[in-house]
Order: sequence, then structure tokens, then C-alpha cells
Amino acid sequence: MNIAPEKVVGLRFDLHVSNGTTDRQLMESASEANPFYFLVGHSGLPFEFENALIGLDAGKNFDFTVGMIDAYGPLEPEAIMDIPNAVFTDQDGKFDSENVSIGKYLYLEDEEGQQHRGKVIGLGTDTVKMDFNHPLAGFDLHFSGAVLEVRNAEAEELAHGHVHGPGGHHH
Ligand SMILES: [Zn+2]
Repeated sequence: MNIAPEKVVGLRFDLHVSNGTTDRQLMESASEANPFYFLVGHSGLPFEFENALIGLDAGKNFDFTVGMIDAYGPLEPEAIMDIPNAVFTDQDGKFDSENVSIGKYLYLEDEEGQQHRGKVIGLGTDTVKMDFNHPLAGFDLHFSGAVLEVRNAEAEELAHGHVHGPGGHHH
């Protein structure tokens, strides 16, 4: 069976990233013992990632690059913000230094109640510097691996828009 829209796919893969100034670095991987499963059309990954896999069947290897523009776009300088320390203090005025430290990811809510995931990259006197860019923004993505499984999706999986069972949702 070939990979096509609405099929369930299991992969092993390595994701290496590069940005033109550094060597490729391994960012993420899924092993044969613990594959990455997704429903084609609903992986949550860039369209070009799924598109590059269309037509492959189980046992086939792949090795392709999704360029930065087709992936998560460039790093946006305006997505780096200084957030007042007051946002991270409790009612007693105590700064949450346990959770707000360099390298940590935090969710902040904007005025519309939308959650945004950001990384703490600096601690100032009055502000916390946070980077709200997607962690893969600014990178070309190099995927290599193999297709382990391709199957039809169950009606319930299609209705939910995700894979059930091993490697998927349990509920
Ligand atoms: Zn479900």
C-alpha cells in the first residue's frame, strides 16, 4: 500500500537541521522500536514533509530536505520579546525563579486568550527575554529514514484526525 491522503503511516526517521552557518545537527528521531505514526493530512508537520512521502510504501527509504521557507519560515526578530517580571510573580510578589530560567519553555497567554510557547533566553533586572519563534524556525529540515507501515485509517481515526493505538492516541 502506498502513502496517500488519509492513510496511517509509521516511520523511523532522523531529523537533522541546518541553517547555513552551522553543521547539520540531529534535532529529533524516531526508532524502529518506537516509530512515529501519523495520519496523512494531519501530521502537524509542514505540507512539504507529507508531500515528499506520498507514493512510498513500506520498506522504502527516504532522504529529503524541506527548505526553511516551506518548513517553519525564517526567525522573526519581533518574536523575541522582553516580558515584564510582574507576569511571572505570584500574589506575594515572589518571582517564579524555579520555572522561569534560561532554556525553559513556557506558555504565555495573549490578550485574545491564545497560548504561545516561548523559550526563556535571558533574565534582565525587570524583564525576561523570551523567544516565541518555533524551535525549528530558521532551519532547513533534512529527513532520512524508512517507511515501516502503511495502512488504511479507521473511520474513528479519520473522524478524530489522529492515529489510535500503538504510537498514537489512547483514549
Ligand atoms: Zn481519537
